[in-house]
Amino acid sequence: MTLPRIHILALGGTIATRPDASGAMQMGLGADDLVAAVPLLAQLADIRAETVSRVGSHSLSFDQLHALAAKIKALDVDGVIVTQGTDTLEETGFLLDLLVERDIPVIVTAAMRNPALTSPDGPGNLLAAVRVACDPWVRAHAKALGVIAVMLDEVYAASDVLKIHPTRLNAFASPQTGPLAALVEDRVVPLSLPVRAPVEAARRRLGALTDIGREQPVALLWMALDEPGYLLEVLVDHRDQLGYRGIVLAAMGGGHVPERIAPLLTQLAEIVPVVVSPRAGGGPLLQQTYGGPSSEIALRKAGLIWGGRLNPLKARVLLETCLRAGLDRPAIVDVFDAWA
Ligand code: ASP
Repeated sequence: MTLPRIHILALGGTIATRPDASGAMQMGLGADDLVAAVPLLAQLADIRAETVSRVGSHSLSFDQLHALAAKIKALDVDGVIVTQGTDTLEETGFLLDLLVERDIPVIVTAAMRNPALTSPDGPGNLLAAVRVACDPWVRAHAKALGVIAVMLDEVYAASDVLKIHPTRLNAFASPQTGPLAALVEDRVVPLSLPVRAPVEAARRRLGALTDIGREQPVALLWMALDEPGYLLEVLVDHRDQLGYRGIVLAAMGGGHVPERIAPLLTQLAEIVPVVVSPRAGGGPLLQQTYGGPSSEIALRKAGLIWGGRLNPLKARVLLETCLRAGLDRPAIVDVFDAWA
């Protein structure tokens, strides 16, 4: 029996750390080290391992991820697993989902507990990711699943998964949709298929993105009680010097901001795309319930782009990608409308 060819691409992160002389964990392990720690992998798959970088995911760049996506697109294999840090996995996985369309499993995984601890989760997560990549249901539905994340024996859609805790083992969840599958014993138990229409609509607009384009910095601003809007003032007055090409606004409730900053937002939306996303972390925003100067009705009329149910971190990834692809304002509105 020929085993599935699974390509592991290691980026770095806690899963790839080792202690230095002082005991502090430093990036160090490569893809071969990660594979060597789990001898069982050789029975499940024909494993190829490649070290792409040795950086924490908090320091990854959009450019690096575009290069990674190009690499994944070109691989002649039956499945791809990216190992990385947990800090930005919810963003990197979503970006790969936007950039890579393949009919083989593409999986991101990581570790919360480093290899020097008594019970590191990296080896178990890598084993689980390989099991998922080799599983017949996952392989048959690879395109319908999109890029997936495998953490602590659960499988999540990259477009929904969130890091919900900074340290504990069960740090990942998909609060809006729940997991797509679970691992039990040596089996993958399918639970659901994701709704892919918004990702597919975005991909149609984004096109092949063969030229990765130039960095398009997007600022993420979290709205909070009595926010005075000084940063918005600076953005309005010095947008060119600051370099931001777009703004994501994590708004209160169904899409609200403090009344005192509504005029500034109206000004800002005239000079740069401003996407409104739920501060609550996800769930569809309102469109036509509340009136008043800083309600969803007023903000939509003022030209703010409605981010729908997309988490603010994911909305920022999507806006950067739209701007890189050179989409104009109506096209960007269209892309975000699909998440309404
Ligand atoms: N700071 C690390 C990273 O994201 C944390 C981790 O891997 O869990 O690379």
